[in-house]
Amino acid sequence: MSTGWDEIDLADSQLVRAGEEWHSELYRIAASQFVRCAEVLDLDQESRERLIEPRRSLIVVFPVRMDDGSVRSFTGYRVQHTLTMGPTKGGIRYAPGVSMGECAALAMWMTWKCSLLGLPYGGAKGGVRCDTNELSAQEIEHITRRYASELIPVIGPDRDIPAPDMATGEREMAWFYDTYSQAMGHSVPEIVTGKPAVLGGTEARRPATGLGVVYVTQAVLDRLDWELKGQRFVIQGFGNVGGVAALELHRLGATVVGVSDHTCGIVDPKGLDIPAIHDWITEHRFLEGCPIGQPVGRSEVLEQPCDVLIPAALERQITSANADKLDCRLIVEAANGPTTPEAERMLDERGIKIVPDILANAGGVTVSYFEWVQDQQKYTWEVAQIKDRLRMQLRTATTRVIEAADELDLDWRTAAMTVAVKRVAEAAKLRAIYP
Ligand code: NAD
Repeated sequence: MSTGWDEIDLADSQLVRAGEEWHSELYRIAASQFVRCAEVLDLDQESRERLIEPRRSLIVVFPVRMDDGSVRSFTGYRVQHTLTMGPTKGGIRYAPGVSMGECAALAMWMTWKCSLLGLPYGGAKGGVRCDTNELSAQEIEHITRRYASELIPVIGPDRDIPAPDMATGEREMAWFYDTYSQAMGHSVPEIVTGKPAVLGGTEARRPATGLGVVYVTQAVLDRLDWELKGQRFVIQGFGNVGGVAALELHRLGATVVGVSDHTCGIVDPKGLDIPAIHDWITEHRFLEGCPIGQPVGRSEVLEQPCDVLIPAALERQITSANADKLDCRLIVEAANGPTTPEAERMLDERGIKIVPDILANAGGVTVSYFEWVQDQQKYTWEVAQIKDRLRMQLRTATTRVIEAADELDLDWRTAAMTVAVKRVAEAAKLRAIYP
């Protein structure tokens, strides 16, 4: 069985054309996972052709007037992976390293995530290359509005619906919504999800990904017969996803023995006071200087002994350089693409199981879907109803993945991928090829 992208001879491959437009480490990982799954499914060549590369991509370079009067160019991307399942859906990230290849990988994962959860979307991803720590709120607003207007030819409530991702949130979604609505001449709340509630957003969207991580973790622990209360957790990243997951786990009685952000890590084998850390972050933005627990390096926290490790920061954090140093029994991938295929092989040999990102962090897009449906219906659901539906949908998906893994003797990632890819491949076949 082929195990990876690195084993494919690109020169001979019919799968990637000469330009290698998506070339990036993250796309190599996403593509290698797809190839492995295609082998397991014995997927025909036509389906492989149609699914390995994104269908539509846009690069925009636009000028922004900065606060000091100067003009700077910013580069933005939007990649739509498959147009077969309905409109595309995916976040927008602001980060210095965003690239076309990174967006292509993340868009592909969004396709699998939506398919696994049974949502009527293909995957997309976008971003602007910038460092928000160096920008004022006004500059971020200018970037967001100009980027939104540059995307108008390829987005729309029935075409492609953006959402928040790294360094973007309700504020940026409100600007995005307003910019699109100004261009259309009327309010179009369905153009983005993750908006403030007063603008047609859903109360439960902001914490949805973090809560979803906990719901999936709980479903997996139930299957493994491990009681959540007895487990020690380490969480890398204390942002929208990691911070919410940490608080919820603490609330449920789990022991969080380590957390980190990009400034540092803090650990305490007896358990950290997560609400107090949350208050510190609210006041000081970052963990640095936090007087709770013992300070450690931001990468060291991954090696802290625990039962469940939750990488919730960014991609490629668990690599062949640190996979043998991890001291955990289970990894729940709250971030997208936190584990490299090389690291995954090493962890597999050590018997450490991985709950894959397309399942673990699917809570965000599921509640985004609920928000979009409510906007379309012009009818607001109760928060409790949203949380119940979220828990139920994630539990069902978790069961589907574990059962597929048991039936086909696969790891959970490949099992999740097979469930997801099968559905998209079948839809593509049925729609056939135009003209
Ligand atoms: P965020 O910007 O709110 O938080 C990111 C956190 O990671 C911050 O605490 C930051 O300080 C920390 N961090 C950055 N670099 C780090 C490093 N080298 N070591 C340790 N910590 C570091 O972002 P988020 O929305 O919480 O997203 C986190 C991850 O979850 C990303 O991979 C994102 O793609 C994924 N994700 C997010 C959502 C969502 O709804 N926000 C949905 C699905 C997946």
